[in-house]
Amino acid sequence: MSAACALVASGYRVHLIERRPYVGGRASSYEHPGTGEVVDNCQHVLLGCCTNLIAFYRQLGVTDKIRWFDRITFLEPGGKRSVLQPGFLPSPLHNAPSFLAASALSLADKIAISRGMLAFLSGVPADSKENFAHWLARHGQTQRAIDRFWNPVLVSALNEDLDRVSVHYAGMVFRKSFMQSAQAGQMGVPTIPLSELYGHALKFIESHGGQVSLRTRVEGLAYDASSVHRWKLQMEGGSIEADAVVLALSFEAMQKILPSLPAQTEDASEKLAQNLEHFEHSPITGIHLWFDRSVTDMEHAVLLDTTIQWMYNKSLLQPERRMGDTGSYLELVVSASKSLVNKSRQEIIDLALRELALFFPRVHEAKLVKAAVVKEVRATFSVTPGLDIYRPGPVTGWPQLFLAGDWTATGWPSTMEGAVRSGYLAAEALTNAAGRQQQFLQPDLPARGLMRLFP
Ligand SMILES: Cc1cc2nc3c(=O)[nH]c(=O)nc-3n(C[C@H](O)[C@H](O)[C@H](O)COP(=O)(O)OP(=O)(O)OC[C@H]3O[C@@H](n4cnc5c(N)ncnc54)[C@H](O)[C@@H]3O)c2cc1C
Repeated sequence: MSAACALVASGYRVHLIERRPYVGGRASSYEHPGTGEVVDNCQHVLLGCCTNLIAFYRQLGVTDKIRWFDRITFLEPGGKRSVLQPGFLPSPLHNAPSFLAASALSLADKIAISRGMLAFLSGVPADSKENFAHWLARHGQTQRAIDRFWNPVLVSALNEDLDRVSVHYAGMVFRKSFMQSAQAGQMGVPTIPLSELYGHALKFIESHGGQVSLRTRVEGLAYDASSVHRWKLQMEGGSIEADAVVLALSFEAMQKILPSLPAQTEDASEKLAQNLEHFEHSPITGIHLWFDRSVTDMEHAVLLDTTIQWMYNKSLLQPERRMGDTGSYLELVVSASKSLVNKSRQEIIDLALRELALFFPRVHEAKLVKAAVVKEVRATFSVTPGLDIYRPGPVTGWPQLFLAGDWTATGWPSTMEGAVRSGYLAAEALTNAAGRQQQFLQPDLPARGLMRLFP
């Protein structure tokens, strides 16, 4: 969508083809069959440092559909709160006063964490074979610092266990969101369902003379150098011709379509197939609970020491989701949810209710009106140590065929920001090949305070 919008706004005739009846891909919403409610496939959040995603929202005119928060509350079972929020000190110390006041961590934990963060002050190491769990052990982190700080922050940001993430990406999360500036660390939450949010991209494309085909699966691609339009996309019941193609698929969908691409002398497809072999996915589970009453006044919170990791109070975050005057709707998120994949819906709901009551005792009195469990087994690709060398850029071995998708070489983990970046990079490559050399990629936020000394 970001590639399509950038190109259509630059005068290209764009045709966006999407297999599903709605847009958003892995960041979408739909009517859940069991409950009749519109649910996001999972709560999606962004950060202030997601400059390309924010620019994309600006282009679509939906920036007012994002609510920004500068405080994150960590809740212990029993309800004790530790709030992380910026204060009066210059970056990277802006969160320091609230961090030092956090009751969830002891002084020894805080000293260990500060020492760990200091290691990223002057930059993050390049992607290597070292995993972050190993790095934490090497940097003398206490068990509680890992359980209540490094783990909750990183598992939700990177959706993977710490022994399976690259030190580079773990460091990047902390440097970009915790250290760079208070603005970079703000958390943005959409106030409307995701497909409604991204539906604005369709309006944008069509209002600029482009075309959108939903419910249309591309089954193969053929190349004919002698034809006027060269590329032919084959779908059930027809085909579309194009001068250039951007394939913006997940890595799994890319693996499926790859054998249909025309053979290349330098065997571009074999190299790409080999690179794709190195990608692995990780699951996320969203647990949606509708109660007959309010069980908390908090809008969101990190839940410590339990399987459930985040609570989003959708009745407060998305006003349309309010359940009459008294009811409430919460979504609980479990990232890297391997332990839930084989559990039944009822087992997951029972576990979630049991754990939720530890933080919000009103759950005991509330009646659960309905519930939905959404298991996204192939939610994100894992930034496993050393993966970067296998992430391809937008230019391929085929003429006028470009790659996008969060898994390509964006420098970002599997996120909406990474996906939008990949779209802009593919659009730039396409305009370069057409001799127009346009730039769509947005600059990062500038460092603030003392961080200006550590570019
Ligand atoms: C449960 C969950 C929670 C997440 N939470 C966050 C979060 O909080 N913050 C964040 O930034 N990111 C989050 N992510 C990651 C984010 O959603 C993805 O990184 C991003 O949406 C990837 O976008 P993409 O365009 O690269 O790929 P996709 O979204 O997978 O888009 C690919 C599109 O191609 C379509 N397609 C596939 N095959 C074909 C075909 N043959 N023909 C036509 N169309 C086809 C698909 O239907 C899909 O719409 C989350 C992801 C999940 C699943």
